Amino acid sequence: MEHDLDCDVLVLGAGPGGYSAAFRAADLGLKVVLVERYPTLGGVCLNVGCIPSKALLHVAAVMDEVSHFESLGITFAAPTIDLTRLKAHKDKVIGRLTGGLAAMAKMRQVTVVQGRGEFVDPNQLNVELTDGQRQSVKFKRAIIAAGSEAVKLPFLPQGDERVVTSTGALELRQAPKRMLIIGGGIIGLEMGTVYSTLGARLDVVEMQDGLMQGADRDLVKVWQKMNAPRFDHILLKTKTVSAEATAEGIKVKFESADGTPAALPEQTYDLVLQAVGRVPNGKKIAADKAGVAVSERGFINVDIQMRTNVPHIFAIGDIVGQPMLAHKAVHEAHVAAEVIAGELLGDAKLSQSAFDARVIPSVAYTDPEIAWVGLTEDDAKARGIKVKKGLFPWSASGRAIANGRDEGFTKLLFDDSEEAHGHGRILGGGIVGTHAGDMIGEITLAIEMGADAVDIGKTIHPHPTLGESIGLAAEAFEGACTDLPPARK
Ligand code: NAD
Repeated sequence: MEHDLDCDVLVLGAGPGGYSAAFRAADLGLKVVLVERYPTLGGVCLNVGCIPSKALLHVAAVMDEVSHFESLGITFAAPTIDLTRLKAHKDKVIGRLTGGLAAMAKMRQVTVVQGRGEFVDPNQLNVELTDGQRQSVKFKRAIIAAGSEAVKLPFLPQGDERVVTSTGALELRQAPKRMLIIGGGIIGLEMGTVYSTLGARLDVVEMQDGLMQGADRDLVKVWQKMNAPRFDHILLKTKTVSAEATAEGIKVKFESADGTPAALPEQTYDLVLQAVGRVPNGKKIAADKAGVAVSERGFINVDIQMRTNVPHIFAIGDIVGQPMLAHKAVHEAHVAAEVIAGELLGDAKLSQSAFDARVIPSVAYTDPEIAWVGLTEDDAKARGIKVKKGLFPWSASGRAIANGRDEGFTKLLFDDSEEAHGHGRILGGGIVGTHAGDMIGEITLAIEMGADAVDIGKTIHPHPTLGESIGLAAEAFEGACTDLPPARK
């Protein structure tokens, strides 16, 4: 056993939640130990998730864009793809960011311990170091940020390189000709975009009645129309019932969700991606030894200060529940670190920090991107909430037309209840189109600030930009948009 470490705050897990909690706590003057099982900081997001997928999606988007340039009079030769160099580019992107985190941990004097951590009691964690040694860490407070991992379907062949989760898909080991995506959520459709641009034909099998659950159907429809050429089959309300590894490929059988035979007979694929959600790592950290309650599914319940049932132990990120998004984890991380610093340093204001964000935006970095935040139209309908829509089609946006990408639209939803008297605040919004993800932050801010359509429409947006579509959607709501045909009286 190495000598014991003592700290104010132990942070378990160095993903976006964990490193943000550790850095914020250190910045507030606390002595911090950050425990991470992998050699680099950054967790799934930086190493095998958000960042590498975006490096590849950017390449795919540029390749797709130039392939359409012929109609503009610019012709490029067909691309040749060197997977080894593409992978090296992706690894360089990861290395730059994770290296930056290591440097910033040092600058803040955060002690990083590499190894697998498990609680021993409510004030101690043991870390099994990579060389087999053990390190004990004693703490006054702890923040659990141990994240989640991809669900693995039990009937899929194990240990076969042709069956992957998002992690394996990002390794770019092969350029498949036929790829099956199990689960039509964000991971499936983002990775499908990359592989299809690299030459794969796609099939997707989804249990629900539509792809990209959670987003309004009108947004998804625009994506689906543009992306239809990538797919041979989109199987909805269908499940995969068996898969067999053979020399020719992975042979897969389907069944309708209601148990009747599926529309598609057995198929053979070069690559099968399972992207059916993620499970929290709550059961892997001996939380019970610290007295922390973990649900049957591995989640840890917290209050709005991110406190577990054990008052000096906090939890943040994927392990506390949906949505499993890095930006939610970072926000929670700052709350937990501030509450702890407030308590340990006797700062009443900091100790009152709480998670009070109204909304958390979602983005699918497909092409076009789909981004939404707050109330969706489908949700409003289902819950009987009266909303009125302001919609600006990008077919009327000078910038979108100049870019040759006018398929999108921007939609804002305002409170139309009687109490709102026709001047309702914004409750939600959605954008489909290029760079939608970069723009959804403005709608998020508008919701946080309780803005109404006049606030948004009278905010001068730069022209010509895609972002001005948000102001124009608010003007359309007001009947004051002069970039659209006159509103019908
Ligand atoms: P998801 O929950 O978004 O989608 C999984 C889909 O699989 C769902 O539509 C579900 O109905 C379907 N499904 C489940 N079991 C199935 C089965 N047996 N057969 C067929 N379909 C099945 O999950 P994901 O795409 O794996 O992503 C995991 C998490 O990571 C999510 O929380 C997501 O928000 C997050 N993530 C976010 C981003 C982003 O923000 N851009 C990117 C990737 C992942």
